[in-house]
Amino acid sequence: MQPIEHFYPQLDTPAKTVITMHQKPDGDAMGSALGLYHFLVALGSEVTVISPTNWADFLNWMPGVKKVVDFENQREKAKGIIDAAERIFCLDFNVLHRTKHMEQPLAQAKAVKLLIDHHEQPQREAFNYGISDTGKSSTCEMVYDFIIKSGHGGLLNETIAECLYTGLMTDTGSFRFPSTTASVHRMVAHLKDSGLKHTPVHEHIYDNFLENRLRFIGFALLHRMEVLYDYNTALMYITREDLVKYDIKTGDTEGLVNYLLTISGIRFGAIVVDRSEERKWSFRSKGYFDVNAFARRHFEGGGHMNAAGGRSSESLQETVKKFKEVLTEYQIQLQ
Ligand code: 5GP
Ligand code: MN
Repeated sequence: MQPIEHFYPQLDTPAKTVITMHQKPDGDAMGSALGLYHFLVALGSEVTVISPTNWADFLNWMPGVKKVVDFENQREKAKGIIDAAERIFCLDFNVLHRTKHMEQPLAQAKAVKLLIDHHEQPQREAFNYGISDTGKSSTCEMVYDFIIKSGHGGLLNETIAECLYTGLMTDTGSFRFPSTTASVHRMVAHLKDSGLKHTPVHEHIYDNFLENRLRFIGFALLHRMEVLYDYNTALMYITREDLVKYDIKTGDTEGLVNYLLTISGIRFGAIVVDRSEERKWSFRSKGYFDVNAFARRHFEGGGHMNAAGGRSSESLQETVKKFKEVLTEYQIQLQ
């Protein structure tokens, strides 16, 4: 993987371009993809955003989202676009298998592949150009840097600003995590100067749920949470029946794990959701407990030091049991 700066001279030449991101894209994945989309379109390229899977409804207000192709829904069309692409931007993921069924088409594509990402341990050999910086708050911040450093800051407008602000806001926990550097705040200032109206973005993302989701959170906190004080850890598990009963859709469980860390003294929060194809873990920590390492070691996952995910193909009961067993190894670290 060559440094992304080596690619800048090619940027002014329009090309058939695909932008993709990790499966079940979150605010940062969708925000960075659409921010880059509007930027590259302004530079004259023909651009298609392809998402490996569907995404949460609370992202459906975003400018350009209606044109995003869902690979799982439109597989043949998406494959054709990937095969014909001259450039493929890969955003907010470190390894190709984070794109689920798109892994093979991406690996086989002839296009120049570019990575912009902030996760640990990227698969460098899979990309021609790229930047991987775990010190960055979000991929949206990195797309902003890409726009500015490539000399096209003048193209920043309200639309691009709205998209980039979305991921900046969601990945920093609304500007509270340690990754919220002075540069993040300077970026926000620049986005504001470019026309950003930030209040509607917060409302679209955080105040846009149905009643059932709030009832579900109440239920989960009351009946599905265990606090393991010996380990300063809180655990939550969501069964398949819970998902059906409360009509829980993609994105409705997002953010639930953060409630666990609001208990005083709790340093490690973990939630596992029994999705049909796998048991999906979300891990969050405060301070120096490294959930990226934990997820990699025990649950086929990864991510960042304080936010990571993982999976298990065992039953919900088995995976919860395994979690409690492996947790005993971390008692000292979690004090
Ligand atoms: P979330 O818990 O919100 O799904 O994910 C937290 C962070 O970990 C995000 O940055 C996400 O991209 C990353 N992540 C989630 N699941 C996985 C996984 O299975 N593998 C890797 N490498 N990263 C993951
Ligand atoms: Mn991200």
